[in-house]
Amino acid sequence: MKRIPFNKAPVPDTAADYISDVLRSRRTSGNGKYTKLCQKWLCDRFGAEHALLTTSGSHALDMAARLCNIKSGDEVIMPSFTFSSTANAFAAVGAKIVFVDIRPDTMNIDEELIEAAISNRTRVIAPVHYAGAACEMDMIRGIAVHNDLLVVEDAAQAVMSTYKGKALGTLGRLGCYSFHSTKNYSMGEGGALLLADTQTARRAEIMWETGTNRSCFMRGEIDKYSWVDWGSSYLPSELNAAYLWSQLEIADDINDDRLKTWRRYYELLTPLAEAELLILPYVLPECGHNAHIFHIRTRSAAEQEALLAHLKSHEVGAVFHYVPLHSSLAGKKFGEFRGEDRYTTSEAAKLIRLPIYYGMAEEDTERVADLIYAYFRKGIVR
Ligand SMILES: *Cc1c(COP(=O)(O)O)cnc(C)c1O
Repeated sequence: MKRIPFNKAPVPDTAADYISDVLRSRRTSGNGKYTKLCQKWLCDRFGAEHALLTTSGSHALDMAARLCNIKSGDEVIMPSFTFSSTANAFAAVGAKIVFVDIRPDTMNIDEELIEAAISNRTRVIAPVHYAGAACEMDMIRGIAVHNDLLVVEDAAQAVMSTYKGKALGTLGRLGCYSFHSTKNYSMGEGGALLLADTQTARRAEIMWETGTNRSCFMRGEIDKYSWVDWGSSYLPSELNAAYLWSQLEIADDINDDRLKTWRRYYELLTPLAEAELLILPYVLPECGHNAHIFHIRTRSAAEQEALLAHLKSHEVGAVFHYVPLHSSLAGKKFGEFRGEDRYTTSEAAKLIRLPIYYGMAEEDTERVADLIYAYFRKGIVR
């Protein structure tokens, strides 16, 4: 039986050439040729004002949280159905995390519930674009303007996704991408921070290079660089940037290929959705997604477990997603759920992510779908 992995990171033919190029140059530390190529590409392609590659998506979020000038006890609103990094970043600067329920269709934060979760300590809304499918950004941005809040997009999963024609990651004050090896574009470990205004970008650049104004020095704006603010080493090595560049050059190929697999799953599984055995993913109108995840939802948690076990027994790498943060140990320590948990816990317990990656063979997609059909023909666990 052939194993179908959950994920395979893309490795274009050029990846080894570009990495060798860096090795031959002996300039392996950060902010070199490939970093600049990638950053320029991110700005040009997504219409971002500024972009900085980072050592991870988590570090992009950490920088974003720092740049929000949070004071201890300030509150940040986010979904509980997300990765720990969204919350970690704000918890690290002393914020209290306020979790809000999700919409059961997109699995994203329910924009209608945000206003009720705002207090006089709220500073930031951090929407997460789950599976690369957009949150309702017009409403979220409207709420932010109305209440004088910042929007930090966790667009870790949303590179190449759009909302009404605009790139996700560019719709808030700050946007965070991940280039972890499980994401659509990989640096092994890496990410990017997108910034909408030049003043914040200046501060970010200093934070990025260990709190020094080295970038100003490199541009010839000053004759010595020194420690000017808090920072760390958030810039990735050129080796990682070179690997990313090999994928950004073929970003559309990768995106189209993933979308092809996503659409094939959708088509194959639609009869099961029509028979109300499964729920398929939903993307808001006027939004383009990047096929980061293909997820299905079963009718019950017991059925999710049984179907996951069935797929696993046939060597298919299907996985669940997220123990909701508010019910985890750290979630209780750093935050609270505000409002009713109607969907977060129940929907997370029914969700299954199917294998999807660049270059996935159509026959493998079909085999996964066949196995799901076989499961429903066999025993139905409710
Ligand atoms: C992957 C991911 C992150 C973190 O990215 P890393 O590059 O793994 O640090 C943050 N938020 C979400 C929603 C993610 O999926």
